Amino acid sequence: MGPTLILDKSALQSLSKIESFYLHRYFIVNIPPVLIMEILADLKKDDTRATPPKLVSEFAGKLLLGDGCVNGHYQELIRQSLVGNEPKMDGQPVLQGKTVRTSDGEHVILMEETAEEKAIQRWKDGRFEDSEEILAEGWRSITRTMDIEAIQRALRKDFHNIPEIGSPSALLSAVDNLLGDISAQVAVLSWMLVEYGIESNIASKAAQRLQLCGYKSLGELAPYAYYCMRVSVLYYLGLFYRCPFVGTRKTNRVDLEYLFYLPFCNAFVSNDNFHKSVVEPFLRSDQLFVHGEDLKRGLAAVADQWSKLTEAQRKDSWPPDQSGPIILALWGQFCRPRQPEGKNHIPSMTEDEQRELLGRLRPLIEKAQSGTEQIASVQDDDVQFMIRRRSYRLEDPCMCGSGLTAGECCLKDLGRGR
Ligand SMILES: [Zn+2]
Repeated sequence: MGPTLILDKSALQSLSKIESFYLHRYFIVNIPPVLIMEILADLKKDDTRATPPKLVSEFAGKLLLGDGCVNGHYQELIRQSLVGNEPKMDGQPVLQGKTVRTSDGEHVILMEETAEEKAIQRWKDGRFEDSEEILAEGWRSITRTMDIEAIQRALRKDFHNIPEIGSPSALLSAVDNLLGDISAQVAVLSWMLVEYGIESNIASKAAQRLQLCGYKSLGELAPYAYYCMRVSVLYYLGLFYRCPFVGTRKTNRVDLEYLFYLPFCNAFVSNDNFHKSVVEPFLRSDQLFVHGEDLKRGLAAVADQWSKLTEAQRKDSWPPDQSGPIILALWGQFCRPRQPEGKNHIPSMTEDEQRELLGRLRPLIEKAQSGTEQIASVQDDDVQFMIRRRSYRLEDPCMCGSGLTAGECCLKDLGRGR
């Protein structure tokens, strides 16, 4: 398992099929739901260098290979955060699953394939549902008709001599001053409830929690919801102060949504200038912004060198020395140090070991199916078994880490139709 990356649409679009194959071989690709919507919206694209369904299929073909997953939707995570089920903001994907504790005290989480994950697999085969056509049309018309300049005029209309703010970090300080005012926490909560369309039952629970803790900072009470509010308010204040790095480009409003998922990756990859400027002040010291072109160059180098690598190098969980500098830098920062050659191999299991593990897992899966739904980070220290059920395609990178497709490697017999 390599570092966790989130790519925006521009970065994903720039990768060739083979580059996205190696992307999934060496990284965990966390897919934010906004990326799925952006891809689906291409179904109604007028620019037809390729037919729209083919375009969407091609995009989908670069996703959910190997260990990829779709992160929980930010609105759901905000709801959870407001009622005290805080999603972990530790650079790992946050997924939804059923959880149980067995009589032996083992904590098990079972994650079924989500509706979004199933949809992506379907799109790879060029199959779309009618509702998805409607959704694509709706998304396109909303993003096209949004009048950002009118919002900017409305924000500024009662003010004169508004000063200028020169940098994204100065803008974020202004945001923190506004939201951090302890006497304004009730007002901030009300704004948040409207901004994210929070239902009344959750709203009253959140208000109760705020009252119970003596109206202290929402940042301590609901860290993730508060984080999202900082992102949204940065955008509004950026419009208010007419900051050039925020701008009134319609697509910025959509691009902003990627920032809601920033806490759930080690590195965010994009080719977009808006992203580059607004992401930087939100990055924790253990996170990176990576330019999409740099990642592409690194993956192209892997693809280029692959046929010249020894079998030991291919099986190594660490990327080969010939990978581009950004790939080695990401591994250097987020993974365990490289061991001498041959010691980084992803351990393989004998058939007996596989059978034994399956025998142990089956009753746990059965128990977990009657468990309660909850959100969980994929690296929860308290969880002994995290089981993900999902479809695997023969053209996906093999789970043993050989760098071959599953159909050429561990699922070879299936590939031959057996
Ligand atoms: Zn294999």
